[in-house]
Amino acid sequence: MFKKILIANRGEIALRIHRACKEMEIQTVAVYSTADTDAMYVRLADESVCIGPAPSKESYLNIPAILSAATISGADAIHPGVGFLAENAQFAQMVEEHGFVFVGPSPQHIRDMGDKIRAKELAEECGLPIVPGSKGAIESIDDAHAVASTIGYPVLIKASGGGGGKGMKIARSQDELADAYSLARAEAKANFGNDQVYMERYLSKPRHIEVQIIADHFGNVVHLGERDCSIQRRHQKVWEEAPSPALSLEERAKIGEVAADAIRKMGYRSVGTIEFLYENGEFFFIEMNTRLQVEHPITEMITGIDLVEEQIRVANGMPLSFKQEDVKFLGHAIECRINAEHHHTFIPSPGQITNYHAPGGLGVRVDSAMYSGYKVPPYYDSLVAKLIVHAKDRRECLFRLKRALEEYVVGGIETTLPLHRQLVTNEDIINGQYDIHWLEKALEKLIDS
Ligand code: ADP
Repeated sequence: MFKKILIANRGEIALRIHRACKEMEIQTVAVYSTADTDAMYVRLADESVCIGPAPSKESYLNIPAILSAATISGADAIHPGVGFLAENAQFAQMVEEHGFVFVGPSPQHIRDMGDKIRAKELAEECGLPIVPGSKGAIESIDDAHAVASTIGYPVLIKASGGGGGKGMKIARSQDELADAYSLARAEAKANFGNDQVYMERYLSKPRHIEVQIIADHFGNVVHLGERDCSIQRRHQKVWEEAPSPALSLEERAKIGEVAADAIRKMGYRSVGTIEFLYENGEFFFIEMNTRLQVEHPITEMITGIDLVEEQIRVANGMPLSFKQEDVKFLGHAIECRINAEHHHTFIPSPGQITNYHAPGGLGVRVDSAMYSGYKVPPYYDSLVAKLIVHAKDRRECLFRLKRALEEYVVGGIETTLPLHRQLVTNEDIINGQYDIHWLEKALEKLIDS
C-alpha cells in the first residue's frame, strides 16, 4: 500500500481524503495557498507544503508547484480530490510521468469524458441511452437551425468543454436560437477556452439521476446504486438523496446494470459517476464524471462502503474488496450542501466564523473543515459543509435531517442553512415530488414566506 499521499485540493474534500488515508495508515501531505494557512485540513495533515498565493491559478491549479511538493515530500501518489485538477487529463498524465500514482482513472478516460461530445459518442457505443441531439459539434447557425428543427424545440446548447452548469443556453423557439447559440459559444470560450458547442433536446421536467460505479484494474465493475440530485439552482446541485424517491426496485437494478456494463466496455478503472436525466420512465445519458463526487457520502451511508478508501486501493493495483452481490442498500440518506452564501440572494459571504456548533447523534455526518474562528476565504468555491443524514427510511431521514438542521449553528457569516430548513419541511420535498426545475420555481415562494 502507498506510504504517503499528497492531497492536491483544499477544504472539506481534502479533509475527507485525509481521514480515509489515516484509517489506512497512509501519511498525508496537504498543499495550501497563502489564503489557507489556518485551514483545518492543513493542521491535521502529517505534512504540509505552501504552493502559492491565494488565486487558484497560482496555487491549486499550479501543476509544477504541486509536483514539486510531491517530490520534496516523497509522496507515492497524488489524490486530486474534487474540482481544481481532478478532471485535468494533462495533470493526470504529468503525475504519472513524474513517477507518482494518480488516484483516479487513466488520462485517456479523463480526456474522453471531458469532451462532452466525445463522451456522448462513447456512451452510445457502450450501450447507454443518450439525449436526442446533434451528432457532434454545431459549426454554424445554419447547422443549429437544421438540428433544432429535427429534434424539436425547446433545445439546449451546451459547451463541449463544459462543467459546473456553465455555457448552457435554452432556445424555446426558432426566434431565440441565434442569440442562444452565440451566447453559449461566447460563454464557453470565456469559461473553458473552447467555444465548441453541441445541441440537445431540452427536457422539460426530468430528474437528475446518477449512478455511482467503481472499477478495478482486473475488469471488476460494481455499481453502488443511484443518487437523485434534482434539487438544483443554476444547474448546480443543492440537495441530494440516495436512493431516488422516483425509481422502482426494477428500474434501480436495471440502470445500475446498464451503467456497470458500459463502464466494463470502456475499460475504465477507479470511481466514476454516470449522470442521466430521467423523464417519463426513460433514462438519458448526459455526462460522466471521472472522479469522486461532492455527493459521494450519501452512497457511502446506504452501502457502508468507504469510496475514498476503495478508490485508493484500486489505484494501488488491488482488486475490489467486494462483488456486486455483496452490495446491500440500507435505508435512505440525504445530503445538504451548505454554502457560505446568503440563503436567498446567494451572494457569497466569506469572513470569520464567530461561533460554530455542528449537529451529531445517530445517523448524522458533517463533512466540513469549518471551526470557530476559521476565516472563510473569498477566493474559492463557497461550499463550506455537507450535512449528511442516514436513517432506515426516507420519512425518518427527513425527521432526522430537520432536527440536525435545527441544531446546526454557524455564526459570523451567512450560510444556506435557512434554505435547507425551508426545504426539509416543504410538502413537495416531503412527497419526493420534484424535478430539476423545481427549486428555481419554488425559490420565488420560499423567498416571500
Ligand atoms: P455540467 O457538466 O455543466 O454540470 P451537465 O451536462 O451535467 O453539465 O448538466 C448539468 C445540469 O443541467 C443537469 O443536471 C440538468 O439540470 C441540466 N441539463 C443538462 N442537459 C439538459 C437537457 N438536455 N435538458 C434539460 N436540462 C438539462
